[in-house]
Amino acid sequence: MAEAPNQYPGNRPSEPMAESDRAAGIEVGPDFERFDQRDDIFSRAFWDETVRSDDSMEFFRGHGHAFDARRGQGFTQRDFALRNAAWSVADDYADRNRDSGLREGFQDPQEPRFPPAAQRLAVNDPNAMTAEIKRVAKLFGCDLVGVTAFDPRWVYATRTDIRNFEKKPNDLPEGLDNVIVMAHGMDYHLVKAYPSALAGAAVGMGYSGEAVTVAQLSQYIRNLGYQAVGSMNDTALVIPMAVQAGLGEYGRNQMVITEEFGPRVRFSKIFTDLPLAHDKPKKFGVTEFCTICRRCADACPPKALPFGPPEMGGANRSAIKGVKKWTADCEKCFGFWAKMRSDCAICMRVCPYNKDFSKPIMRLARRLAGTKLRRLMLWLDIKLGFGERVAPETWWRMQVGDG
Ligand code: SF4
Ligand code: SF4
Repeated sequence: MAEAPNQYPGNRPSEPMAESDRAAGIEVGPDFERFDQRDDIFSRAFWDETVRSDDSMEFFRGHGHAFDARRGQGFTQRDFALRNAAWSVADDYADRNRDSGLREGFQDPQEPRFPPAAQRLAVNDPNAMTAEIKRVAKLFGCDLVGVTAFDPRWVYATRTDIRNFEKKPNDLPEGLDNVIVMAHGMDYHLVKAYPSALAGAAVGMGYSGEAVTVAQLSQYIRNLGYQAVGSMNDTALVIPMAVQAGLGEYGRNQMVITEEFGPRVRFSKIFTDLPLAHDKPKKFGVTEFCTICRRCADACPPKALPFGPPEMGGANRSAIKGVKKWTADCEKCFGFWAKMRSDCAICMRVCPYNKDFSKPIMRLARRLAGTKLRRLMLWLDIKLGFGERVAPETWWRMQVGDG
C-alpha cells in the first residue's frame, strides 16, 4: 500500500487543534508523523532482529501451559497459573480469528457480533445519551469512562498483519466522530508485588475485563442502530485519547495518572457515530509533580525512563515522532521484560500516585501533591516506605477483605 505518514486518514480532514491541545498539555511539532503499529515494541519483537531474541519468543509463549515456572517467589507454577488464567479471556479474543490473520484487541479491533440495527434510536440530547453510555459502560465492568472527539493524529498510520508482520491498511468506517475511552483499575495489592509473574495477574485482569466491556458496550451501541468499533491496544494510541477524555494526566512513567487509581489502570476505547458530548481534559498537578519527582526513572532496572524534561521524539523507532513528552526507551524496557519472561511495572508500583484512594488520608495526600507542598509530599512518600515491593507470598497469605 502507498504510505502517507504525515497525512491524516482519508476519512476526515485535518483540523488545527491548538486550543484543545493546550488544555490537554499536548505539544505536536512540525515533524509529527502518525505511528505505524509495526513499530511498536511488541510487533518489532516478531520482525526486528535487533529486538527479537530467544527470550522475547519465550515471553510471548508464556501464556500457554508451557510457562516458565521457576522456584523463586512470585515465579512459581501457581504464580504463572494465576497470571495466565487472568489473561485467558483477552487471549481467547486475540486467538479467535487468528486464522483470518486477525489478533483482536492487540493488532486488530474486535470483530462485531452483529452489525448495527437497521432502526436507529433517535438521540435528541447528546448529554443525556453520554450519561447513559457511561452508566452502561460501568455496568459492563469499567471503572472510569470519558468521551472525546475523534483525533486522527493518534490513529495508527497502518496496522500490522500478524501473518507476516508487514503493514496493512488501518481503515475505519466514515463518520466515527466520538471516542469513548474506558479504564479498568488494577489490583493495588498485586501491583505492589512487581516484578513477579504473580503481579502480571493485575494486567491480565485488566485486559480480560477490557475485552468483555468493549465487546458488550460496542454491541449495545450497534443494537441502538449506530456504528461502534471496539478497540483495546489496536487501531490507535489510547494514551493521548485518555488525556483528552479527561481521565487523567500524562506522567514521566509514560502512563496516564488518574485521580481515582493513579497510574494503576488499563485503557480501551470505542469509536462511534453515536451522538455524544465530550469531556474536557482534567489537571490535578501531575505534570508539576513529575517535574520534581524521578522515582520511576530511578527505580527502572534497565534505566529506560527519562530523567530530564519532556522532549520531542525518542531513542528509537518505537517512539512517535513529533510529540513532546516523556518517552521511554522501549527497547531497554522490553529487553528487561523478555529476560524476566514476564511484564514489569516497577514504574507503576513506585509512583507516589499509586495509592488506595478509597482512604481519606490518601485523597488528602493527593490533593497536597498538587500544591506547593509537593516536595514535602514526595519526601514523605519515600520516608514512609510507599512504593516498596511486597513479597508475592504476602499476597497469597492475604485474606479476603484485607486492605
Ligand atoms: S516497565 Fe519496568 S523496565 Fe519498563 S520502564 Fe517501567 S520500570 Fe522500566
Ligand atoms: S514516579 Fe514520580 S515522576 Fe514518575 S510518574 Fe510517578 S509522580 Fe511522575
